[in-house]
Amino acid sequence: MKVTDMQIIRMLVAIILIFMVPFSMAEVFVSPVLNTEPIRQDYVVAAGRYIGVPLPGKGGLNDSYRITINANNAIYKDITAYLVDATNLRLFEQGYQYRGIGYQRAMAPFVIQGGTNTAEPHFLILDNRFAGFIAKKLHLNIEASLGLDEANRQVLEKAFIGAYDGLKQNLIFPDFNIRVEPCGQVNAYSESFGSGDIHYCTEMISHTFNNQNKGAFTFILLHEVGHSLLGLWGIPGNNNEDIADEFATYIMMSGGPSGYAMLDQSLDFWKNRDSAAEAMNMLKSGDRHSLSIQRIRNIRENIQRGTSFINRWNKLIYPHSTTEALRKIIQSPKHGDDVGLAQNILEQRNKLATLN
Ligand SMILES: [Zn+2]
Repeated sequence: MKVTDMQIIRMLVAIILIFMVPFSMAEVFVSPVLNTEPIRQDYVVAAGRYIGVPLPGKGGLNDSYRITINANNAIYKDITAYLVDATNLRLFEQGYQYRGIGYQRAMAPFVIQGGTNTAEPHFLILDNRFAGFIAKKLHLNIEASLGLDEANRQVLEKAFIGAYDGLKQNLIFPDFNIRVEPCGQVNAYSESFGSGDIHYCTEMISHTFNNQNKGAFTFILLHEVGHSLLGLWGIPGNNNEDIADEFATYIMMSGGPSGYAMLDQSLDFWKNRDSAAEAMNMLKSGDRHSLSIQRIRNIRENIQRGTSFINRWNKLIYPHSTTEALRKIIQSPKHGDDVGLAQNILEQRNKLATLN
């Protein structure tokens, strides 16, 4: 049997497609473990008294903790401290023998680390009943590693997949992955000069959720998307923090009233941050981000610039927009849309298509 050229080409195309598809698909990975942001809290335990501090988490079997206990007392820095589950807290309170992880009259600072392997809420007992006179002024740093149940993990995964699909419908770019996992710091970052992959640390998710700030959660994701897309498109400024902020601001403003509302909410998040501590960190480790007060000012100014700000970004973004997205702009333009520019780009694409 004679194999024609056409058959060979068809075979090659089929083989390429088989190998191409998995490589061109983005992966959204959401870790089943969520590390929370560190909680810093002060407690005063009076002489002869104890307290049971509730720990983060609803009682996952694999929940574990790292708790650093410091004492602000000048000399008497001893305290009995145990990490326990709800059952053992009750036993302790009723004067029975109880089980937990910790120390009797340990000298602060010290660390308690681990979990109880029970599906119950966790507590930290701070027991100063041995003391006759001296109250203990304690400073706690609590880090939790919580098992995310499958239903909640999927909710988070769907949110990220939804955001990615939204981008893909509107913009043309090589696929990148999004990884949501613990990274040991309250952070998010993009591999802007390489794959464009985004890492959204669970510590940052916990931080934005604790602040009940969905706007900040979204702004941070879009900031990273800005780094990734400008990098993948080969545009300068991909590694610039203020430009990534501008990208996030632009996308949210283009979303109309609901986008503006989220953007407004995200400003509260930066407002609550300690700019003096940020400035110290900038000097110490060379953080490239502007201080939060500067970021707020920049974002506010761009919001006030309104459509003149959006129009500048349209010029950069439209050439990378999908034909479908450009058609939508022409058919039913929304806030800040540039119909003329969208028409020009579509006409150029049509010309190129007929030339080919
Ligand atoms: Zn950044």
